[in-house]
Amino acid sequence: MSNVPSYDPAALEAKWQDRWAERRTNEPDLDGASRPFYNLMMFPYPSAEGLHVGNMFAFTGADIYGRFKRLQGSDVFEPIGFDAFGIHSENYALSVGTNPAVLIPQNIDNFRRQLKRFGGMFDWRHELSTTDPAYYKWTQWLFLQLFKAGLAYKKRAAVNWCPKDKTVLANEQVINGRCERCDTPVEQRFLDQWFFRITSFADRLLANLDHLDWSSSTATLQRNWIGRSEGAELTFETPAGAKITVFTTRPDTVFGATYLVLAPEHSLVDALTTEEQRAAVKAYLREVQGKDVVSRRVGEKTKTGVFTGSYARNPATGESIPIWLADYVLMEYGTGAIMAVPAHDKRDFEFATQFHLPIRQVVKVEGEPLPCVSEDGTLMSSGAFDGLPCREGGRKITEWLASRGVAAARLQYRLHDWCISRQRYWGPPIPIIYCETCGPVGVPERDLPVELPFIEDFRPDDTGVSPLARHKEWYFVKCPQCGREGRRETDVSDTFLDSSWYYLRYPSTEFADRPFDPARTKKWLPVTTYIGGNEHAVLHLLYSRFISMVLKDLGHIHFEEPFPKLRAHGLIVKDGAKMSKSRGNVVIPDAYIRQWGADTFRMYLMFLGPFQEGGDFRETGIVGIRRFLEKVWALAHEASVPTTGGSRGGGLAKDTERKLHQTIRKVTADTESLDYNTAIAAMMEYVNMLRETGNGKREALEPLVVMLAPYAPHLAEELWEMVGGKGSVFGQRWPAYDERLATAGDVEIAVQVNGKLRSRLTVPRGLAPDDVLARAMADESVKRFVDGQPVRKVIYVQDRLLNLVI
Ligand SMILES: [Zn+2]
Ligand SMILES: [Zn+2]
Repeated sequence: MSNVPSYDPAALEAKWQDRWAERRTNEPDLDGASRPFYNLMMFPYPSAEGLHVGNMFAFTGADIYGRFKRLQGSDVFEPIGFDAFGIHSENYALSVGTNPAVLIPQNIDNFRRQLKRFGGMFDWRHELSTTDPAYYKWTQWLFLQLFKAGLAYKKRAAVNWCPKDKTVLANEQVINGRCERCDTPVEQRFLDQWFFRITSFADRLLANLDHLDWSSSTATLQRNWIGRSEGAELTFETPAGAKITVFTTRPDTVFGATYLVLAPEHSLVDALTTEEQRAAVKAYLREVQGKDVVSRRVGEKTKTGVFTGSYARNPATGESIPIWLADYVLMEYGTGAIMAVPAHDKRDFEFATQFHLPIRQVVKVEGEPLPCVSEDGTLMSSGAFDGLPCREGGRKITEWLASRGVAAARLQYRLHDWCISRQRYWGPPIPIIYCETCGPVGVPERDLPVELPFIEDFRPDDTGVSPLARHKEWYFVKCPQCGREGRRETDVSDTFLDSSWYYLRYPSTEFADRPFDPARTKKWLPVTTYIGGNEHAVLHLLYSRFISMVLKDLGHIHFEEPFPKLRAHGLIVKDGAKMSKSRGNVVIPDAYIRQWGADTFRMYLMFLGPFQEGGDFRETGIVGIRRFLEKVWALAHEASVPTTGGSRGGGLAKDTERKLHQTIRKVTADTESLDYNTAIAAMMEYVNMLRETGNGKREALEPLVVMLAPYAPHLAEELWEMVGGKGSVFGQRWPAYDERLATAGDVEIAVQVNGKLRSRLTVPRGLAPDDVLARAMADESVKRFVDGQPVRKVIYVQDRLLNLVI
């Protein structure tokens, strides 16, 4: 054994981080690159606590992929930035009593330090922050493009209002009726809001999902969110000839519609109200108006409503049914009127019970009491349609009513227009000026950015008006069209608007006079691979797709889908529990990196479980990874000393050669599919074999160093230099394998659980029993039969059979 110096990650990692910066190792030639590969990860919100281990997990997985692609010959662009506007930052600033304009740059400094320390292959020339006027100038420009195209509009609308955060929330930010940030029950308020017409793109957003190479979990979440439902518009007519149109997803239940309900704001309310009922209706409308300001909750147990005095004809039964008003029907949804089928709808059932309206069952499902909302039944009391299954019955009834001119098949979406205004401080001001004469006028592009003024008192208040209205010099401004006194829009835009286009900005950060340079955009976009978390499946990812479509339609970019390939990573938990501040189990990466080094920490995170599923952070495992890297370190040292194992030209022993090719094959495939944990296991197996056989020659080590480089980039650079390699290890080519050599030594092992054959594994001949067991335990079908139970006995017949007794 030669005298091997000890592995000192702190010194070695600092050395290589300096070299990468000096040599501009991570800065691809953005104009001259011949094989551009845009490796994108979701940029972080720079919290005061610093980078969380969850971010680190996501970034490491994405960084490994980028480095791997680079070694395979691509020009990889891997940028990073900061999503630094928004309510998170503002609320934190409020809680510590410091202006976010002061706090955020400090947080960003800390994040930047952490991101450099973990060894990401970031091109720091192209760092961006959404709070930089040079960035949000173009966020405002984007708003103006939508405004000019008629895709941004303002309307008074019932919005979700969090009384604690004093802000409007998007539907996506309301979880089970509560604010996703502070868990306060959300109220409904009526406020003037800016919306983007994302619903006009619902069909395209949905249809394109079929052609995107996305994790299926993400695509499914988004599909459900868009929520396309097939249904029908049905017409109910009054004796006086007024036509009331309703949308329903359950035309099969029309025979059970025993009354109609209109939203109190419906345009026909006045015409339908009879003299006898006028006083009662007026009183009810007053009651509802009073509720507008405070709250108009949907789904309350006690329903309120009033009878108009009028009747309409059910187009299926011909019966006269009463027309009611109730605030559980909202103008925003469908047509503002519904046919009530109390036997088969929960809210209608509650309403009918309360007001003693008839309940008629028209769908039969064995064993289900009323209200029976299942669609898996058959029709009854529905005339000629009795006995048909619900869905078929619905289609037939729609056809029948359509032939009589009182129905039409219709599609509806769950998706609503995107409410982008926020009555808060910490965001880009929406670039609109209100003029008494001209109405709302877009700020001329030459006057952008509309800078967010520094204001001392940035607290939101209960009026629902942004704090910016309190800054008089900023608020009053000349109308750009007529020159008269106007006033600025005081709402700022949603932080999801900032992040809806950041991937377009990265390659073009140095251009001050355009949001994205056409040539750069053509070369680098759409993004080659995007890796991020499923918590952004319905917000960020949907909005980004929408914004790309708009920019494509307006002729600004050449593609409409920004992320053709997307992979969702899993989540890291701690000792089986989700990490959270309240539980006090959040892992801060810094201390671990200080103790073990960034390379060990990166590999440990990736070894916790499959990257796309996540894993459980247990402190005990990290030393195993460190030992593995120390073994590689020692082997490389021995191989670099000519008098020991480092002789050249002798070639590799047959077994070593086979194992090498098998390892390259496995690490290549697993890294490509983001199965980093099994790739690491394969490298460990290989290293163990080299140590046992004493076959640590350079020919055996060099390919290992290159394969290790995406995972432990600092160590790989050092070892590459040590074995006499030229330049950066990232200038090398990923090793190739010979399929013939790799398969030569494979055997198939039958895996039994309690004596029954459950799976077959292909493994190299002579694989150690522990390794065979580990592979069997990772096999999906074996896992299913072991089902988490302890294995009591293991019977192994070398190269043939493994039986697990549980
Ligand atoms: Zn809240
Ligand atoms: Zn004007």
